[in-house]
Amino acid sequence: MKNIILMGPPGAGKGTQATDLVERYHIPHISTGDMFREAIKNKTPLGQKAEAIIARGDLVPDDITVGLVKERLSQDDCANGYLLDGFPRTIPQAEALEEIGKEIGRPVNAVIDISVPEEVLIDRIGGRRVCPKCGASYHVRNMKPKVEGKCDHCGSDLIQRKDDNPESFKVRLENYYKQTAPVSDFYEARKLLRRYDGQGDKTRLQKELFAFLDTL
Ligand code: AMP
Repeated sequence: MKNIILMGPPGAGKGTQATDLVERYHIPHISTGDMFREAIKNKTPLGQKAEAIIARGDLVPDDITVGLVKERLSQDDCANGYLLDGFPRTIPQAEALEEIGKEIGRPVNAVIDISVPEEVLIDRIGGRRVCPKCGASYHVRNMKPKVEGKCDHCGSDLIQRKDDNPESFKVRLENYYKQTAPVSDFYEARKLLRRYDGQGDKTRLQKELFAFLDTL
């Protein structure tokens, strides 16, 4: 059973690794950040509530985020596992997820915590470009698309995320250290946490993750 959480600060490479993991294990990629961005794009009530909060780098309130994840995890395609990316980000979210896991009979069984030094995160976030259509992520120097400015997968024009600016990044990182880092301890206490080094190109970490997750 692969009921997996990917954790790590903004720019750790969660989204990049997630893309390859879900392809290998045929489980849904559940990224709360992607879900919020989709809601913002579609101007739904949720999107309207979340837009300003996300743009300045703050966290969307727990009740909203937990409700969204609960609904998503109850869907049929999660029956054989799931990969959560960017959730839980607070202790109350982790506690709520424990309850949801029990309710749906699919408790989390692995938590991957990717760490990267702050100066590397700053460079990655500054150079990050994303596809607004399929969510794929690139870097202007380290992970270039095949054609400049275009998504390899769907050909859309790449953009810079609104919250990938120095001011919002600072807030996101502060929130990470204050609110999300304690979530690692929460899972460490439950013997579910595995720490990985996220520096360098994506392939080495990918191999390490495959080697562990293949055994689950
Ligand atoms: P991400 O794409 O994971 O970097 O998320 C982008 C933004 O969406 C975050 O900076 C938060 O504002 C919001 N967000 C995503 N996931 C969560 C979460 N689990 N709890 C609260 N806010 C979230």
